[in-house]
Amino acid sequence: MKIVDLTMRITPSIKVFPGSPRPAFIPWSRFDSHGYDSEVMFMSTHTGTHVDAPSHFAPELASIDMIPACRLVSNAILVRTHKKANQLVEREDLATEQIMQGDTVVIATGWERRAAKNNYMIENPGLSGQAAKYLAWKKVNAVGIDGPSIDAGADGKFTAHNILLPHNILVLENLCNVSKITTNRFTLVLCPLKLGGATGSPARALAIM
Ligand SMILES: [Zn+2]
Repeated sequence: MKIVDLTMRITPSIKVFPGSPRPAFIPWSRFDSHGYDSEVMFMSTHTGTHVDAPSHFAPELASIDMIPACRLVSNAILVRTHKKANQLVEREDLATEQIMQGDTVVIATGWERRAAKNNYMIENPGLSGQAAKYLAWKKVNAVGIDGPSIDAGADGKFTAHNILLPHNILVLENLCNVSKITTNRFTLVLCPLKLGGATGSPARALAIM
């Protein structure tokens, strides 16, 4: 069994979505005075590698704590389609793949290589409306991407979010290490925190092949 960790490391210097706060880990108890060390964390629920719950764009639908565990372990398919700044993943990029109902579709655009660059958060590639509609029609479990958003940086209307989440399809953003996935099909394990009523959560994401 080979495991690839698709998760970004969360630090105070991690890139965050425009308008979101940088995470902070605030020292709380101290070993020398309390006998144990701990910290309090402050961050957006959409920091780093994270899962968007349907309630992120469809308030009447499930929040992150309501996602059944059976959806967090899924058959996944890797779609490799190299994209440049603001370029769209089109329906044609997906239609050649054997995407099945209930699959999690992980889209590798190559954008993760820019994770440390200034334009990582604002010029990322994303799904076209037709591509998102195709995946909704396929009734997939989740759609993940190796960039900060499934919508291109230039798409201020959040087209793909507005199609996928109301169809109860989970969204995974800021995946990394996707180039280390060596098979087209694998098992994806997602571990978002069970945050009551939250619209998303940072998550550990593991590819198992
Ligand atoms: Zn998000």
